[in-house]
Amino acid sequence: KTPFKKLLNIVQRNGALKGFEFKCGKLKDHYLLPVDGTGLFYSGTCRCNDCCIMNEGKKNEAYYHNIMGGCIVHPNQKTVLPLAPEAICKQDGTKKNDCEKAAIRRFLAQVKHDHPQIKLVILLDGLYADNPTIALIKKYGWHYIIVAKDGNHESLIEVMNELYDQGEVEHHTIVDKEKNTTHRFRYANNVTLNLQDDAEQVNVLDYIEIDKAGNSHVWCWVTDIELTKKTVESVMRGGRCRWHIENQTFNTLKNQGYQLEHSYGHGESHLATNFAYLTFLAFLVDQIQELACPRFQKALNKPAKPTRKRLWKKITCLFLTLMIDSWDALFKAIAHGSKAQKLEFNTS
Ligand SMILES: [Zn+2]
Repeated sequence: KTPFKKLLNIVQRNGALKGFEFKCGKLKDHYLLPVDGTGLFYSGTCRCNDCCIMNEGKKNEAYYHNIMGGCIVHPNQKTVLPLAPEAICKQDGTKKNDCEKAAIRRFLAQVKHDHPQIKLVILLDGLYADNPTIALIKKYGWHYIIVAKDGNHESLIEVMNELYDQGEVEHHTIVDKEKNTTHRFRYANNVTLNLQDDAEQVNVLDYIEIDKAGNSHVWCWVTDIELTKKTVESVMRGGRCRWHIENQTFNTLKNQGYQLEHSYGHGESHLATNFAYLTFLAFLVDQIQELACPRFQKALNKPAKPTRKRLWKKITCLFLTLMIDSWDALFKAIAHGSKAQKLEFNTS
């Protein structure tokens, strides 16, 4: 996990992390960190010591690996910066299956250990909108914006409706004339999350976007950032960035040539897990290049419809046939095109 930390430190030292700063009311120099789990592997036959087991002892016993990933993201940034992921796999010395709730605690502890100074706003799916997770985030001195869902937070929705009837819910509307979009906010501070004894006090933001076609999109988040007319829009933009972990990270790793789900072998003990870590690491290096290396950007954006897969193919192709002195030379050749050479045989 050290290389992830070292690479992020290099990005920070060179000032490239500045472009990811999230500003919201009193919050400055904070960074948005969406965290979520995803599936890597599932099989009815192939297994290793790290595999979690489904339907153990039954006819349909199956084996799987998941992973918990988190990236620094920003609404205006195309790139994401993954931190060291946490494998959701069988833990040493235990027979129990690992789960997302346990893995996220290990993931957050590792982040605090690797980057004790960095100020974060953790973005999570509704699955994690519970008291222990919120208490842990607060303990580390960070903030959070977490999705709240009707199914999981009935009492919260009820309290919001009650407050609404009493006229204690604030409203704010922003009309974006340029994009022909309306943003409607409804919010209340200091609402009790649920009926449990250790229930956290949270701020609730209900949000509806009405797009130019007249379609409504609804979101609801809980957060510890104070909700005011001045902050609701930033909180909404931050909250919607959670999508970057699904879309710009897991989907890229699965569908754009990184083969996260079909790695290069499974092995007997930790091979599959290590391949997943290496895949994330390769992705981080590429994202840093895309963020900060003009030569890489030129090479990636060379064709009219740039795709990563095409760039990887081009790199492999040149690597197999030519002597290349440096990455710089390689990206330059792709961006500017290189002269095709006549194929010659070595018959000696
Ligand atoms: Zn396995």
